Amino acid sequence: ESKHRGKNTMTFFSPDMTESKLRRLELSDRLQASVLNGMRGFSVHYQPLVNADTMRIGGAEALLRWDAGDLGPVGPDEFVPVLESYGLISQVGRWVLDQALVRCAEWSGSHPGFVMNVNISYLQLFEPDFIGFVQDALARTGVDPSQLVLEMTESYFVTDLDALKTVFSRLRDLGIRLAMDDFGTGYSSLGMLSQSPADIVKIDRAFIRNIDAEAFNRSFIDAVIDLCHSVGIEVTVEGVEEAPELDTVRTIGADCIQGFLVSKPVTADDFEKRFLA
Ligand code: C2E
Ligand code: MG
Ligand code: MG
Ligand code: MG
Repeated sequence: ESKHRGKNTMTFFSPDMTESKLRRLELSDRLQASVLNGMRGFSVHYQPLVNADTMRIGGAEALLRWDAGDLGPVGPDEFVPVLESYGLISQVGRWVLDQALVRCAEWSGSHPGFVMNVNISYLQLFEPDFIGFVQDALARTGVDPSQLVLEMTESYFVTDLDALKTVFSRLRDLGIRLAMDDFGTGYSSLGMLSQSPADIVKIDRAFIRNIDAEAFNRSFIDAVIDLCHSVGIEVTVEGVEEAPELDTVRTIGADCIQGFLVSKPVTADDFEKRFLA
């Protein structure tokens, strides 16, 4: 890695050193410093997951945040790929899982069976002791495996399935559920749902936009829900922002709702005050 960095420094003034490469380099420096300083600047926010039938909050998705100081706001869509390419995702990912399970244990006290969804990176799934770490974290916090959902982008379930089959089945054997995240954005075909080890499919928020005007989006969500239900997969619709969208996806039969209409991701303290008090 130092070789890589040195090389980039040498080519500082070359025309192919684009602004975006410099930005990644700057971010990687800062992220590395944060990790080395005991995860300084990192935090985990929580967004409610709502049961579409009861409209009760049954869980939360843990979403990583990072205070980049004078660089201004930097979201996980930008910094998670940097953590991945600089070998930092493993450590940070474990920290997120730990934080989230500690909260899950706390919140289960007043809300038995509270479910925690945690995003997992491809690279984490190839760590030799990943399963052991997850098991330890569950044991340490006293969270039941049925309360943990690991969210992974749909490509892991499609293009990478052969490589991941074993780790997926070991996780499921433990009673942990797997969610296919951002469904519909690139790799999926409806046909593969019948063979999928996913327990939950999360339809990407792109499909909820204009759901009442765009016949295709509505039909797509409708078809995905029907197919998933026919093979016992639960469906979450992400990105619900407007009340009419909520009515529509409830009518179509979504199992779980997530979106700004209910709440943006908030700090653990705010989550407790607003949703668990
Ligand atoms: P994701 O897992 O698909 O998470 C959902 C994203 O949609 C979150 O963005 C959330 O804030 C946003 N969102 C939820 N409801 C709405 C809505 O109604 N409208 C709109 N416009 N957006 C909504 P966020 O927090 O910026 O995270 C972006 C992505 O970063 C996540 O997408 C996930 O892929 C990744 N990520 C976040 N935390 C972690 C983490 O701890 N580990 C890993 N590996 N990736 C993470
Ligand atoms: Mg997710
Ligand atoms: Mg998603
Ligand atoms: Mg995503």
